Amino acid sequence: MARHVHSPPKVTKPQLGERPSWWSQFTGIRCPNCGRPQSPGRMLATNPNWGRNRSDFHMCGGCGRYLFLTGERRLRRFFLLHLPVFFGVGLTGFSVLRNIGGLNIYRDAREAYEPNFLGFLIICASINIALNLTGRFEIVGTATSPETNKLDAQGDQES
Ligand SMILES: [Zn+2]
Repeated sequence: MARHVHSPPKVTKPQLGERPSWWSQFTGIRCPNCGRPQSPGRMLATNPNWGRNRSDFHMCGGCGRYLFLTGERRLRRFFLLHLPVFFGVGLTGFSVLRNIGGLNIYRDAREAYEPNFLGFLIICASINIALNLTGRFEIVGTATSPETNKLDAQGDQES
């Protein structure tokens, strides 16, 4: 899928003096230039496949480079990374919670314990956290600001 750059490019910037949050450090999407952890939400918004390309670049708070997720090798990541993580965490959570009182419910029909609503929420949260952790495998592209100015001058384009 071609990356579409708005005209003028939509750039998100960290607030002045903003430090990387613990969540940024946890998910581990880093600036390839200076290694500073980036806000996963802002970075994902630049991914043409995940965030519907809401923004074009996110400025690194450390070195000022314009960063974006290229979305390259998306299919490979999906099948080798996202799907296994989804089922792995889901099934593990399912089998663990069956043995924890208060988070499961006994179903007479199937003669088995199953996670109750709270257990289900915990499983969903774990899957969400695990999928966020796969963000560190996203490929980060950089552009310097003259490049974005050039893109600006050329107007909307596919690259
Ligand atoms: Zn940087």
